[in-house]
Amino acid sequence: MADYFSYQDSRLCVEQVPLADIAQQFGTPCYVYSHTALVDGYRQFESAFAERKHLICYAVKANPNLAILHQFAWLGAGFDVVSGGELQRVLAAGAGAGKVVFSGVGKTEAEMRLALDTKILCFNVESGVELLRLNKVAGSMGKIAPVSLRVNPDVDAMTHPYIATGLRQNKFGVAYTEALDLYRKAAELPHLRVAGIGCHIGSQLTETGPFVAAAEKIRALVEKLSAEGVILEHIDLGGGLGIRYHDETPPSTTDYIGALLTAMQSRSEKIIVEPGRALVGNAGVLLTRVEYLKHGEEKNFAIVDAAMNDLMRPSLYDAWHHIQPVLRRAMPMQQYEVVGPVCETGDFLGHARELAIVQGDLLAVMSAGAYGMSMSSNYNSRPRAAEVMVSGNVVQLIRERETVHQLFAGEKTFLL
Ligand SMILES: *Cc1c(COP(=O)(O)O)cnc(C)c1O
Repeated sequence: MADYFSYQDSRLCVEQVPLADIAQQFGTPCYVYSHTALVDGYRQFESAFAERKHLICYAVKANPNLAILHQFAWLGAGFDVVSGGELQRVLAAGAGAGKVVFSGVGKTEAEMRLALDTKILCFNVESGVELLRLNKVAGSMGKIAPVSLRVNPDVDAMTHPYIATGLRQNKFGVAYTEALDLYRKAAELPHLRVAGIGCHIGSQLTETGPFVAAAEKIRALVEKLSAEGVILEHIDLGGGLGIRYHDETPPSTTDYIGALLTAMQSRSEKIIVEPGRALVGNAGVLLTRVEYLKHGEEKNFAIVDAAMNDLMRPSLYDAWHHIQPVLRRAMPMQQYEVVGPVCETGDFLGHARELAIVQGDLLAVMSAGAYGMSMSSNYNSRPRAAEVMVSGNVVQLIRERETVHQLFAGEKTFLL
């Protein structure tokens, strides 16, 4: 976050462009991304792997804007998708399907057909029943589906319970104890080809310990499989590397990848990772304008034009985002609840923030590049925000602000 968004004199800028200029040109609320931050983030992953055979599959759900997908594809990334829609986005961004892995517990037959037609790299299969369905669908198309089992290593990711995915009680993956049997079964199904193994234990992890514990459990399985003659092409260690929102101290990309590679030192399979948040989270901010300063009996409210429908993380996970004024003012700070206009008490962006602002000022909600726009909704019939990308002093709109008309374009009057 540090260098891509910084104050020049008293004005907060993205790279070389004052955020106030972007608000002026494109309006608010508006997501603003630093192109340089995206590229630097990706290159840190690349260089951390050094000579090791690898593929970085960006987790599309973190931020699926076509401009972002296109950029990562150009840098050589693959993609982790969790729906047919995300696969179509990857293709629409001009990327090939050959570096796509398809995760998710509920793949439909239609999604399987689309993925087989486009020849994705691998299906990350999450259950025995999914293996059977995939075998049937592939057979009906006269194709062979490449598969990897997503194994649930039963490791505590020590993160928010809504984003911990690698515990026995979670819906994700196949049980560690059943994995070997399922591999034997997969090897016998005629329309499947066993290609890999994987795991993904959760999101916003701030320690390497759980990643290493999961990797070691996966390695033990790989060793058993190879003793039985099941040879894998790749080991997919998922995503989940955390970022700094507040005072977290997540490992650097280099330390994180280094720890994974150490755990996999004895193996020669290609290593896949699926980072989402770590690549985009700190590359974006949500720019919003203060509509009113309302002084209540107990609290002061800064009512802004962005809301929980634009950035759901505070309401959903009680997540903390820095909120910075776009213009630094020489006046005393006051404590504000930063809230949106949506009719829910849970509609807030930050509690008890010290800000020196006047009505009409702009605020930047920091670290909003991941799971911001991608989780946004139209609640309260609010059109979704515009998105803008900046590189140096170049500013481009990468998604138009939605119009109210688009919101009800598919709706029909009920006629009796
Ligand atoms: C969400 C997800 C990711 C990305 O998680 P981040 O925490 O954003 O890195 C990777 N793989 C799978 C299977 C996921 O569901």
